[in-house]
Amino acid sequence: MLAMRCVQDIKDMTEDSLSAWLTSHGIAAYRAAQILRWVYHRNVTEFSSMTDLSKDLRQWLSERLIISRLVPEQVLTSEDTSRKFLFRLHDSRYIESVLIPERSHWTLCVSSQVGCAMGCKFCLTGRGGWVRNLKPAEIINQVCAAQAALCDTHPLTNIVFMGMGEPLANYRSVVQAIRMITAENGLQFSNRRVTLSTAGVVSKLRELGRDVTVNLAVSLNAPDDDTRNAIMPINKVFPIDTLLAACKRFPLPSRRMITFEYVMIAGVNDSANHARRLAKLLRPLRAKINLIPFNSFEGTDLKTPEEARVSAFQKILTDHHYTAIVRHSKGGDIGAACGQLRANFAAQGLTQHLGSAY
Ligand code: SAH
Ligand code: SF4
Repeated sequence: MLAMRCVQDIKDMTEDSLSAWLTSHGIAAYRAAQILRWVYHRNVTEFSSMTDLSKDLRQWLSERLIISRLVPEQVLTSEDTSRKFLFRLHDSRYIESVLIPERSHWTLCVSSQVGCAMGCKFCLTGRGGWVRNLKPAEIINQVCAAQAALCDTHPLTNIVFMGMGEPLANYRSVVQAIRMITAENGLQFSNRRVTLSTAGVVSKLRELGRDVTVNLAVSLNAPDDDTRNAIMPINKVFPIDTLLAACKRFPLPSRRMITFEYVMIAGVNDSANHARRLAKLLRPLRAKINLIPFNSFEGTDLKTPEEARVSAFQKILTDHHYTAIVRHSKGGDIGAACGQLRANFAAQGLTQHLGSAY
C-alpha cells in the first residue's frame, strides 16, 4: 500500500546510494546517473517528465521517491541588487540565502543550519541559538532555487557557506551537499568556486581536507586568545595556535590561499597593535585577509569602527605584503549583510531566547 511505504527524498541521496538502492531492486545501476541528470541538470521535479525511462519505471520511482524543492516565501531585493531569499522548511523553520552580485557572475551565500550554537557575540544568527541541522537536500535546494530565480545573463558560479550556521557543526550533510553541488551528474559547480567558512571547528578541519576539495575561509576576528575568547566562545575549545596549525595542514585547491575573515569591532579588535599582531601571526600561512566592518543590529552594544580606523588597519596589513580587502557587506538595507541573517526568529519561537541570552 502506497500510504505505508517510506518515501525518500532523492536530493538526500548520493549517486552511490541511489545506484545501490536501484540495484537492490533489480534496476540497472547506470539509471542513477540518468535520473540525477534530470534532477540537477534540468531541474525536473516529477519522475513523469523523465522521458528516457520506461513508463513503468517512472511510476515505480514516483511511488518510492520524492524530488524536493524549496520555493522562497519571500524575496527581498536590495538597492545594490543583492537578493535575500526566505525559505520555509517542512517543519515551519526558516532559513535565508543571499544572492550577491559580482561584476560578471553571482555568488550565493547558503545556510547550513537553522540558527547556530557557536554564540559569537557579534552575530545575530548566533544570538538565536541552534535549532537544527539542515539535511543535504535543504542545502542543495537553496542553490536550485537561486538558479531558478536567475534569468539574466550573469550566471550563478560561486557558492559560499557563509549564511546561517556553522557548516563544520553539520559536517555530514554539508560534505554530502558539497559533493552533489560539484558533481558531474549534480550541479556541476567548480570546486575552486565553492568556499566553506568556519569559526574554527578544528576537530573537523582535517576530515574536511580529506573528504572534499574546497576553498577555506576562517573567521579569525582577533590576533590573540584573550580578544578572541571575549567574542568567540569556540576559541576556548580550539585556541588560535591549534586553529592555525590545522589551517597550515589544510590541502587547498592549487595556488589558492586561506581567507581569514576579520570582523572589525570598534575598541575591541581594531587597533594598530591588533593589526601588527595579526600580520605576524599569519606569516607562516598562505593567507589573505577580508576585513568586514561590523554590521550592527538591534540589541547590541558593539560598534562599527570609523572608516579611517579600518583603512589604517588595512594599510598595516598591506605594508606587510598581505592582500587585505575591506568587504563592505552588500544587502544591508534588506538585512542580508554578514551576520544579519535571522530568518524570522519570531516564527520559530525564539524571540524570548533573544532577549534572555545576552
Ligand atoms: N559560521 C561560519 C559561517 C557563517 S558566518 C563562520 O562563522 O565563519 C559568515 C561570516 O560572517 C563570518 O566570517 C562572520 O565572522 C561574519 N559575521 C558574523 N556576524 C557579523 C556581523 N555582525 N558583521 C560583520 N560580519 C559578521
Ligand atoms: Fe555561528 Fe558563524 Fe555566527 Fe559565529 S559567526 S554565531 S559561527 S554563524
